[in-house]
Amino acid sequence: AKEGGRNLARFYLPGMNERARERLALVDAMRVALASNQFELHYQPQIDLAAGRAIGMEALIRWRHPQHGLMRPDRFITLAEETGLIVPMGAWALRSACAQAVTWQAAGFGPLRVAVNLSARQFQDPALPAMIGAVLRETGLSPRCLELEVTESLMMDDVEVAIVMMKELKAMGVRLSIDDFGTGYSSLAYLKCFPVDVLKIDQSFVRDIEHDPDNAAMVAAIISLSHDLGMRVIAEGVETPAQRDFLARRDCDEVQGYLYSRPVPAAEFECLLQAARVA
Ligand code: C2E
Ligand code: CA
Ligand code: CA
Ligand code: CA
Repeated sequence: AKEGGRNLARFYLPGMNERARERLALVDAMRVALASNQFELHYQPQIDLAAGRAIGMEALIRWRHPQHGLMRPDRFITLAEETGLIVPMGAWALRSACAQAVTWQAAGFGPLRVAVNLSARQFQDPALPAMIGAVLRETGLSPRCLELEVTESLMMDDVEVAIVMMKELKAMGVRLSIDDFGTGYSSLAYLKCFPVDVLKIDQSFVRDIEHDPDNAAMVAAIISLSHDLGMRVIAEGVETPAQRDFLARRDCDEVQGYLYSRPVPAAEFECLLQAARVA
C-alpha cells in the first residue's frame, strides 16, 4: 500500500480534479517533512486538582511547514491516516515524546507522565506493541510514565480486536485512556470490558458546564461512573475558573486546557515546569 501510494503521488493526470491533486501534493510533502524533521511536538500540562500542579503533559503534533508555517493536526492527520503515513509519523511522535519525558525527568522535574495520541490505523497494526516496547527500551522511559490515548470510536470499530490489543499494551505496564469520551456511542455497555485507566471527558461537555444543566449532569455522571469503575478521570478544554471549580467540586481528578496553558513547544513547556518548581 505504501509503494502504491508513492507511485500514485507521481501521476498528476490532466483530468484529475484540483482537490485530488492537492491531496497528493500534501502526501508528498508529508513524506518529505517526516524525512527532514519538519514535525514537532507541543506539550500541554495535565493538572492534578488535588495536588494543584502538573503531573504530566499531552504531546500534540505540529507541522512546521517551510511555506505555510505552523500547521495544526486537523490540516493533515486525516490524510496521514488514510494513506498509512500515520504509522511512521505516530512512531516518530511516540519516540520523541518519550525521549522528552526522560530528559525532563533527568532534569529533576519529577516523575512526569506523557500522554501520546494513537490513531485507529496504528491501533490496528499488530506490530504496535513491539514498536512501543522498542521505544521504551531505547529511551529508558518507565512504562508507567507513558499514557496512550485512544478514542472511543476507534475501540468500537472492532471491540474484540481492540480488547486484545489493549490487554497486550496493559501487560507492558503502560496506561491507557479513552479520549473524547462521550462523543462516540454505545460504549457504556463495553466500558467495563476495556482495561483502561483513565477517561478523558470531551471538551464539548466541559464548554457549557456552567450554563447547560444537561452537560453539567453528564459530566458529573461520567466522573462518578469512572470512579465506580476504578478509573481516573480527566476533563479537557478547561478554559475558565468556573469550569475548574465545578470539576473540582465533582471530584474530577485532572484537568487540561487553556486556563492553564495552550500546547506549547518543548522549550516553553520547560519554562512552565521551571516556574512551578520555583513557586
Ligand atoms: P485531541 O487529542 O482531542 O486533543 C485536544 C485538542 O484540543 C488539541 O488540539 C488541543 O490543542 C485542543 N485544546 C486543548 N485545550 C483546549 C482548550 O482549553 N480549549 C480549546 N478550544 N481547545 C483546547 P490540536 O493540538 O489541534 O489537536 C487536534 C487533534 O489532532 C487531537 O485531538 C488529536 O486527535 C490529533 N492529534 C494531535 N497530535 C496527534 C498525534 O501525535 N497523533 C495522532 N494520531 N493524533 C494527534
Ligand atoms: Ca488526546
Ligand atoms: Ca480529546
Ligand atoms: Ca479530539
